[in-house]
Amino acid sequence: MVSYDELGVRPVINAHNTLTVLGGSLMDPAVTEAMSLAARSFVDLNELQAAASARVARLTRNEDALVVSGASAGLLLGALAMMTRSDPRAVGQLLEQGAAALPRTEILMHRAHRIPYDNVLTLAGARVVEFGNAIQTQDWELDAAIGERTAGIVYVAGSHLSGAALPFEVVTRIARDRDVPVFVDAAAQLPPRENLWRFTQAGADLVAFSGGKELRGPQASGLLLGSRAYVDACRQHAFPLQRFGRPAKVGKEEIMGLLTALDLWLERDLESDLARAEHVAATWITELSDLPGITATRDWPGEAGGPWPRVRVQWAAGVHPPALEVAARLAGADPRVIVFVASECAFWINPVLVTDTEAELVGAAVGRELGRTAPAS
Ligand SMILES: *Cc1c(COP(=O)(O)O)cnc(C)c1O
Repeated sequence: MVSYDELGVRPVINAHNTLTVLGGSLMDPAVTEAMSLAARSFVDLNELQAAASARVARLTRNEDALVVSGASAGLLLGALAMMTRSDPRAVGQLLEQGAAALPRTEILMHRAHRIPYDNVLTLAGARVVEFGNAIQTQDWELDAAIGERTAGIVYVAGSHLSGAALPFEVVTRIARDRDVPVFVDAAAQLPPRENLWRFTQAGADLVAFSGGKELRGPQASGLLLGSRAYVDACRQHAFPLQRFGRPAKVGKEEIMGLLTALDLWLERDLESDLARAEHVAATWITELSDLPGITATRDWPGEAGGPWPRVRVQWAAGVHPPALEVAARLAGADPRVIVFVASECAFWINPVLVTDTEAELVGAAVGRELGRTAPAS
């Protein structure tokens, strides 16, 4: 068996977040066991996907569902589905001539919702059309942006993005009036649990979640939830067919892993996880507040707007080196600790993904780095 050690790749303590670049999240042994069991038999993938869809739809209170390779894959399939809807002729045109041959290729997004992940819409052959501005959006701006070439609307969920955007219910009302589908990118919007059904119940046609973030399933997995019509339209583009969604395929191992992770997550006691995160945060604050020139405070909500506390560690310029430098030193130390740089003289540490032992190591590592003030120069 090849190990990280053999490759000279040294694991890190993740006090940042469920970032793909750090490996997303860690799987429960039951999840890896399900994957390992799945790897030992051939199955009919269509049969497995149909059974997985039915189970996920029931558990998440949606009409239909599809296990995909990530929220990005959901965006890709969703964009294709909104452009062709369930018209087999449109699917044929797309495959033979590309998206330019389709009558509807524009995907509307709030300007305030533009995120790096929306590159995948261009990959699908869509053109992103923005409405509103970075500060605010009016409902007439969405209404005016809808035209003959509109394929759908992509709405990026999260309280951290909602200030400048229209309320979700306003978007679905206008979309319904104009017969335009709505796709919700809810990749990191768990908890609360209700988000699994809240958006579809409020009128979304499709909603995507990452399997490898909060759900703690396989890194290359995700959930696409929604109406029968639109999830079925997504299937017309997805593996195991050899169509545009083929590069976003999931294996039987990811499917079984994600189903197991979803079961575990739905059974999880989120209240006690939250209480534990608060406890770790409070311990860090007590420890770090003693450091020279440091203020450590509880920040809320988490990076993606979720109901998690995190600790902001801050100092006045010159008292300690710049935060980027401190973060780089923490990342290079033993153990390696990854923090989230917030500004020139502040970073966050996140209690959610660390074990109790790691929480102590993080406190000690930050204490070592910031335990002395910078020499006057
Ligand atoms: C993480 C994330 C994605 C990508 O999700 P994957 O499951 O890694 O493909 C897309 N959109 C948002 C808002 C995200 O946070």
